[in-house]
Amino acid sequence: MMGRLPFIAGNWKMNKTVEEACELVRQMKLAIAGAEGVGVAIAPPFTALYAVRKELEGSAICLAAQNLFWEEKGAYTGEVSPGMLKGVGCEYVIIGHSERRQFFGETDETVNRRMKAALGPGLKPIFCVGETLREREEGKTFPVIERQVEGGLRGLGEKEMKSIVVAYEPVWAIGTGKTATPQQAEEVHRFIRERIERIYSRQIAEEVRIQYGGSVTPENIKGLMIQKDIDGALVGGASLKSETFSKIVRFKEM
Ligand code: PEP
Repeated sequence: MMGRLPFIAGNWKMNKTVEEACELVRQMKLAIAGAEGVGVAIAPPFTALYAVRKELEGSAICLAAQNLFWEEKGAYTGEVSPGMLKGVGCEYVIIGHSERRQFFGETDETVNRRMKAALGPGLKPIFCVGETLREREEGKTFPVIERQVEGGLRGLGEKEMKSIVVAYEPVWAIGTGKTATPQQAEEVHRFIRERIERIYSRQIAEEVRIQYGGSVTPENIKGLMIQKDIDGALVGGASLKSETFSKIVRFKEM
């Protein structure tokens, strides 16, 4: 069986105007050029997707969106549909990010609806799960992750699962500078892979890429990536600068 290709994605969150986004992409293209054996995606805000897509022409960096709504069109003021994202050139879409769950009322059920809607026109979900500090301290990490994984994937078949990337992002590590230790991350990644094996098959579980997210930096990426079940990173803060993001992408060279 072929190994899993590492996958590094940058989540720009609510940062960068169109001009700033284009400038950052130009820098990243140069800084990342020639990096081998790694897939890369960036998720600018909706407003910059079209312009960034143009800047990315001829580059191996994939375009991702940060969210979507499950309806295709209609009276849903402020929402963006799967077809719109596909049309603007997105290949991936982040779904169920903890900031969406925390601040915008996302539940496992709405995450699941978004997952199904994304897969319809062929978008690949980056499906985020992760426990809060309180849940971890109360010893609930595994049940919470299990609930999120099962809830988010409900009703999705093996074929669909092949298009999904999972991102384990402990909420207490996002934007806090507090990374999970490689061992803490690895044990949850292994747990997620086992759940996926139980729901689908050994083969699907071996193929699915599971990213770690939460204060990933050039300094800690290597220790994370040498773990057996960590296949990449979803990077927030450090993806806003070409210098730090490209070092993370080039983790093999460090
Ligand atoms: C994220 O937004 O998914 C994230 C992991 O952020 P940060 O790297 O800033 O912790």
